[in-house]
Amino acid sequence: ATLADVDARVSVCRACPRLVDWRETVARQGRRASFANQPYWGRPGPSFGDPDADALIVGLAPAANGTNRTGRMFTGDASGDFLYAALHRTGYANQPTSVAAGDGLELDGIRIVAAVRCAPPANAPTPSERATCATWLGRDLDLLGDRLRVIMTLGEIGWRGALAAATTLGWDVPRPRPRFGHAVETTLRTPTGHPVRLVGCFHVSPHNTYTGRLTPDMLDAVLASLRP
Ligand code: SF4
Repeated sequence: ATLADVDARVSVCRACPRLVDWRETVARQGRRASFANQPYWGRPGPSFGDPDADALIVGLAPAANGTNRTGRMFTGDASGDFLYAALHRTGYANQPTSVAAGDGLELDGIRIVAAVRCAPPANAPTPSERATCATWLGRDLDLLGDRLRVIMTLGEIGWRGALAAATTLGWDVPRPRPRFGHAVETTLRTPTGHPVRLVGCFHVSPHNTYTGRLTPDMLDAVLASLRP
């Protein structure tokens, strides 16, 4: 299997009835007026970025009118505007904006996935939905394998999802499980002993960026720290 195979299988996943209903209801009838004439993706958000990346960003979940509309991670909403501008400043993205698939955006050396791949009501997946979708994250981690050098999580749900997926794969995870924090770092080890850094970063949601809890300088510093 390849990362593309996993994405193809994820794209038809219906394992979480509440999220399937929400993603499809928003796509059918819950559209914002400004997007009323646009087709909605309405399916799980596939991973996006460099297939040969050694760095992985794990976000929370697609936004109902962002990824759930455009079909590309962090594309078409304020969170994505903040993230891709930073990825461009730090040399991971070829352009600072992410508007829609086909806009020419490419990532170099980094890949983005969500801990939960379907848009949840109020951006709040349940513990059982998080556990169910960690299976998909585990498949991505397994395929990236010993090529992966660092995982950066945007927010605590991504952090916990990465730890859950790594544990499921039999990776060596520090005990007690390290707690999420901005710029907090720990090291996981794959079954071959290969080290994978796990780095926390506050989520790029407007809740954090509009209040100054996460500034562009703070995000740039974490992204820069991912480099070898
Ligand atoms: Fe499947 Fe994940 Fe979506 Fe649940 S959240 S339906 S596990 S893709």
